[in-house]
This record gives sequence, C-alpha cells and structure tokens, in this order.
Amino acid sequence: TTAPPVKKATEDTKRALLGKVDCFIFDCDGVIWRGDSVIDGVPETLDALRKLGKKLVFVTNNSTKSRKGYLGKFTSLGLDVNAEEIYSSSYAAAAYLESINFPQDKKVYIVGEVGIQEELDLKGIRYCGGPDDADKKIDLKPGYALPHDEDVGAVVVGFDRHLNYYKIQYATLCISENPGCHFIATNLDARTHLTDAQEWAGNGAMVGAIKGSTKREPTVVGKPAEFMLANIATTFGLKRSQICMVGDRLDTDILFGQQGGLSTMLVLSGVTTEQALLSPENTIHPDCYTDQLSDLLEAAQS
Ligand code: PLP
Ligand code: CA
Repeated sequence: TTAPPVKKATEDTKRALLGKVDCFIFDCDGVIWRGDSVIDGVPETLDALRKLGKKLVFVTNNSTKSRKGYLGKFTSLGLDVNAEEIYSSSYAAAAYLESINFPQDKKVYIVGEVGIQEELDLKGIRYCGGPDDADKKIDLKPGYALPHDEDVGAVVVGFDRHLNYYKIQYATLCISENPGCHFIATNLDARTHLTDAQEWAGNGAMVGAIKGSTKREPTVVGKPAEFMLANIATTFGLKRSQICMVGDRLDTDILFGQQGGLSTMLVLSGVTTEQALLSPENTIHPDCYTDQLSDLLEAAQS
C-alpha cells in the first residue's frame, strides 16, 4: 500500500479551511515563536484570524512555565493573548490530578521546574522536590538508605534542567514502594531546541530515567494525549470538526489532532523538514502543510 499524498496548502485549501473551522489550536514553539523570537508575520496573522471571529488556543508541551509564565512570554513578544487561551503541559498535570480527585492529604513529588509548582499551587495541591532538590547530593556511605515521604501519592515528571541522582532515586522510591503512587509525565518530547545551534535532550530523557528504574509506564497529559483536548472543546463549546490543530511536530501535534478528530496543518517553521514529512518512513500525515503560519494571512484577509 502507498501512503496517502501530503499536500502543500494552496490558497483554495486555506480558504476552505477558514470556512470550515471556528477554532485554531496552535502549538507554540516552532509555530508562534522559536526560542525567544516571534516567528515572522505571526502577530498580523493572529489579528486577522481574530477579526474573522476565530477562537484561538495555544498549547505547549514545555512544562517549565505555568500559564501565567506563558502569558508573560506572549506579552513580552508583543502578542495579545488571554490567560484562558493558554494550555501548558504544566497546567495539564495539575488539571489531571484534580480530575482524579487527588487526595488533599497526599503530596506530589516534582521532577521539573517552577511551572509545575505554580500550577499545583493554584489547585491547592501540596508538593515537594522540583527546584528545592536542585542541589541535593547523596552520600553513599555503607548502609545508607535515602528516606522518602510516605505521603507522596504522585510523581510528576517534567523538563528539568537540574535533574540529578537524588531526584531520580527519590522518584523511584515513591513509585516503587507505593503501588498506588501515580506516575505522570507532562510530555515525552524526545528532543527540543533550547538553542538554534543543535537539538537538546527533551523531557523524554527525564521520563525515560524514571521509567527505566521503575519499569512503570507514565500517564502522559501533554500532546498527543487527549486529556487537554477534551478540556478545550468543553471550555469553548466546540465540536471537534470545527477545530484545526496547527503544529510543527508530527508525533505530538499532528498525532494529537488526528487522534482527536481535528483538521491538521503542519508548518515547516519548526522541527520537521519537508523531506522528513514526505519521506516514505513517515506514517503521520497532516491534512495539509505550509511553510509558516503567516501563509494563512492572505486567505484570512480576502
Ligand atoms: N519541552 C521543552 C523543554 C521545550 O524547550 C520545548 C520547546 O521549546 C518543548 C517541550 C516543545 O514545546 P511546544 O509544544 O510549544 O513545541
Ligand atoms: Ca512545537
């Protein structure tokens, strides 16, 4: 069997898409910005889509910031976005814990950064670890055992630039000594673009460490998991057929859209090259693709 062709969007395709969908879900890094720079033409395109009455939602798998942190980033980039339009994987972790009625007398052990702390604070969920354990060391004297808090009922693993052996051992103890302890991953991105100069190990590395020592599979709450989509569709009162997912990554964004029954558009302004998209090895096919988000501008203004 041959793979279905993946089409570059024509002006007609874009106009048809704008006629069909009422809401765009945008991935952030690679679509809206790259690192700390806004991608060319994005502000004008978002304005034009808003003028057409489209609902806009911004979803990121990067858990290092909270939604409030991202609101600050949007503002500093000159993008006018409302707090309710932002969904970060740090928020998804907190919302997931709320959805399972995480007991008030339990705590979360965080492998991750301040974004997860801030979102747990907003839900009144207690936690330990995270940035507080950034400099912890283990002194492996003979007979030494690392103590851990028996009240930990969930381990949340997000991107952590201060991952260390202490955190790995602590998270391992929480999960393996308590069969009821939840193991939650904000996302599994294998690699990410912390700088333009090379690809860097992503949260797949942090989650992989804890998977490797516990032999447990995490519950993933970021893209491509369905969890946030249900929340978005309900909050904005949307049918899935009215939503288009725009992303730069096949195995998170496009898969998220396809599994959720959304229209999908890949942009080449991020991690996926045209060659990788069209390669016979790629099995994830968006409905269409284009170079960058601002390619929608003309259709949105006509
Ligand atoms: N995780 C980390 C640590 C990142 O730095 C990035 C992108 O910069 C991502 C995930 C992916 O973010 P997004 O879903 O916005 O592309
Ligand atoms: Ca991205």
